[in-house]
Amino acid sequence: TDTLQVGELAKKLNKDTSEIIKKLMGLGIMATINQELDKEAIELIAADYDVEVEEEIIVDETEFENYEVVDDEKDMQVRPPVVTIMGHVDHGKTTLLDAIRNTKVTAGEAGGITQHIGAYQITNNGKQITFLDTPGHAAFTTMRARGAQVTDITILVVAADDGVMPQTVEAINHAKAAEVPIIVAVNKMDKEAANPDRVMQELTEHGLVSEAWGGDTIFVNVSAIKGDGIDDLLEMINLVSEVEELKANPNRTAAGTVIEAQLDKGRGSVATLLVQSGTLNVGDPIVVGHTYGRVRAMVNDLGRRVKSVGPSTPVEITGLNDVPQAGDPFMVFADEKKARQVGESRFKKQQDAQRKESSKLNLDDLFNQI
Ligand code: GDP
Ligand code: MG
Repeated sequence: TDTLQVGELAKKLNKDTSEIIKKLMGLGIMATINQELDKEAIELIAADYDVEVEEEIIVDETEFENYEVVDDEKDMQVRPPVVTIMGHVDHGKTTLLDAIRNTKVTAGEAGGITQHIGAYQITNNGKQITFLDTPGHAAFTTMRARGAQVTDITILVVAADDGVMPQTVEAINHAKAAEVPIIVAVNKMDKEAANPDRVMQELTEHGLVSEAWGGDTIFVNVSAIKGDGIDDLLEMINLVSEVEELKANPNRTAAGTVIEAQLDKGRGSVATLLVQSGTLNVGDPIVVGHTYGRVRAMVNDLGRRVKSVGPSTPVEITGLNDVPQAGDPFMVFADEKKARQVGESRFKKQQDAQRKESSKLNLDDLFNQI
């Protein structure tokens, strides 16, 4: 809006309405308190008080919510897949993630010290793969509850000596609901009691039929502890990734999702972001959930400082005014002013919501006391 009522203008200038009306009369404008003034009249009056008129930038929330801006097909480029590992407790998720990271990251990137930032990237046969190393279930439930979809492929880990368990089924349901393709890693093949056929049989009942049995689900036998089958598994990830034709436009302002965030004693708010489209640069004005700022520094999964990162890359950033939450969307804005306005508007909304929440609690407390 670039009009204001006389009364509103008086309030903004901190003057009596009658005084403004008098000034307007002097300018040949006969006005009442509710009269709408156009931009020119507002500027004239403001200039008279030596006040500069700043145009209000309308905060377009929809722009933020629908941050998956539709890109032109010709601008889309192949991007690495983002992989989550899920499965029943103790079936070897953490061991498998470590095995993949150890065989690939340290070998290829000599001198790099792996940092825990909630995600890491490896290179297999010249192709990058991003692994989320937050517990798979949490990644799915908290992220999806917030409307974020970050996973392209799920590795379902099933221990060959234990078979399908409750959390295995839960993981299958999460992946199916999100329409994310599943690759089954039958783990602990080194064990005496390993029975991969039983795992195949049991998974059939949940709609996962192996290619060997005429279905279309990829099964890979692995031993996370010995490192057996890891290369095959990575090969299959690359294959599925190609079939999925995962693409993003790297040549636009960045948008994506928070993987994890916390308050660091020395560095302040530290957030791991997964860039999903565009390129994120140091210095970019950014809104992250209800927080905002400028990207002060970026550190990758090897603890190295980086200046810019493209799609499917996880990176730890500092420079935010507050700590966002896992699953929050982030978006870079063309200028800092707009980022601050959108950030402040979102921050206020979040606080209002919290205040409402706590006043509800207070009422409840009151009733409890009665
Ligand atoms: P998570 O709960 O799914 O993350 O499982 P962990 O990775 O913590 O593994 C649970 C236990 O299984 C640990 O004691 C691991 O050492 C063991 N384990 C994991 N993978 C293998 C494997 O391939 N072979 C054997 N024998 N043990 C394994
Ligand atoms: Mg674990």
